[in-house]
Amino acid sequence: MNATPDMPGQTDLVLIRYVSIGAAYVDIIGPGDDSTHNRWYCGGCRTTSAPGYALMSVLREGANAHAATCRAIPFTPQPHTTVAAGGTR
Ligand SMILES: [Zn+2]
Repeated sequence: MNATPDMPGQTDLVLIRYVSIGAAYVDIIGPGDDSTHNRWYCGGCRTTSAPGYALMSVLREGANAHAATCRAIPFTPQPHTTVAAGGTR
C-alpha cells in the first residue's frame, strides 16, 4: 500500500498524542519545533491539518479540538464471514 499525501510520512516524529472520543490517536507529527511541516493527523478519520501552521499552540488547539469531537475509530480490516443458506450461527 502506498502512502497518500494525507498520511504521515515514515520520517515524521510523533510530537504530541491525543486520544479521541472514538479511541483513535490524533497525533501532532513532523520534524518538530516550529517547522512548517508539522501538522496533526487523526488515525480514525484520517483528517489532517494543512501544513504551514508552525505554531505548536495552534496545532495543539486544533488536534485537541478534533480529538474531542471525532467519533471515527481506527479501521481494522475484518475477514468477511458468510453463513450457509438456511444455516444458523
Ligand atoms: Zn478524526
